[in-house]
Amino acid sequence: MLSRENVMREALSELEAQRSRNMMTEKARREEAAEKNPRIGQLLAQRQSALFSGVRGAFASPAKAQEISGNMRREMDLLNKQIRRELTACGLPEDYLQPVYKCEICRDTGYVGEPIREQCACLKRAVMKRLYQNEGLQMLERQNFGTFDLSIFPDTPIEGRKNTQRGYIGKIRERCESFADGFKPGEGNGLVLLGKSGLGKTFLMNCVAQRVLERGYSVVIVSAYKLIEAMRNFQFGREGVEQVQDMLTCDLLCIDDLGSEPMMRGVTLSSIYHIVAERSNANRSIVVTTNLSVAQLYDTYEDRIAARLCNPGRMQTMEFVGADVRRFAAK
Ligand SMILES: [Zn+2]
Repeated sequence: MLSRENVMREALSELEAQRSRNMMTEKARREEAAEKNPRIGQLLAQRQSALFSGVRGAFASPAKAQEISGNMRREMDLLNKQIRRELTACGLPEDYLQPVYKCEICRDTGYVGEPIREQCACLKRAVMKRLYQNEGLQMLERQNFGTFDLSIFPDTPIEGRKNTQRGYIGKIRERCESFADGFKPGEGNGLVLLGKSGLGKTFLMNCVAQRVLERGYSVVIVSAYKLIEAMRNFQFGREGVEQVQDMLTCDLLCIDDLGSEPMMRGVTLSSIYHIVAERSNANRSIVVTTNLSVAQLYDTYEDRIAARLCNPGRMQTMEFVGADVRRFAAK
């Protein structure tokens, strides 16, 4: 699991590389323009020396600094006007020699605002992208609260209930979002999303993961199947130490599709117990999706696991009901 600081450092050094690419582009454009129209080359050289002599003069006689800088600005304006005219004359855009930025908002520094410096949206995006790619969380770019589409759930009453499926899932979504927004490491709370396939459980779990990750906490998403596989490799001395370490220590562990993993004697139950108990003892949070009901969780995983997952003091249990929406979404 990459630390957020490492990811931030990488993103900032990428911005630094971008700034030097910008300067190369600017240099290449100056050369191109001067070649097309030698007059531009002369004007650029003139502007350069006017700038230097202005700065030198202001240092040499501070008393006249203001006058000198005023003169310099007028001379610059005049030269810039001529340069723009010459650019247009040889068929180039008049702003062709302006500084080049990939992000105009922060000028590729990653930060905006005075006096309170804030991260520019481009830096936040770069950090998120890196986190997603490095952790195998690419699906979070597509599956998050921003893309969660309530309208794919039928607005008709659920069999035997008053609510419509859309209204009902809308409430679950709200609870999930407020869990993610209020998430703090060390509280040891969590969610259990129960119900049949195709009702949006995994999607909502991913929404929670994305929000918690975006808020700066570490998140691991793993299918129950992969969890068992990793624990098994670890147990038999093959690789996977880091993976198990991540599952034990990340701020939020999301286990998808608990109950779908193969039940291997001496592996499955002890692995799940180990992860669930270790995390719960250390007050680390878990989100679980499962096709099993609460009663089936108790049947499948023995009390010591099920009681931790369904502990009402810590865990919110939500049951998804209604019609499979994957066939609507696939349309
Ligand atoms: Zn920016």
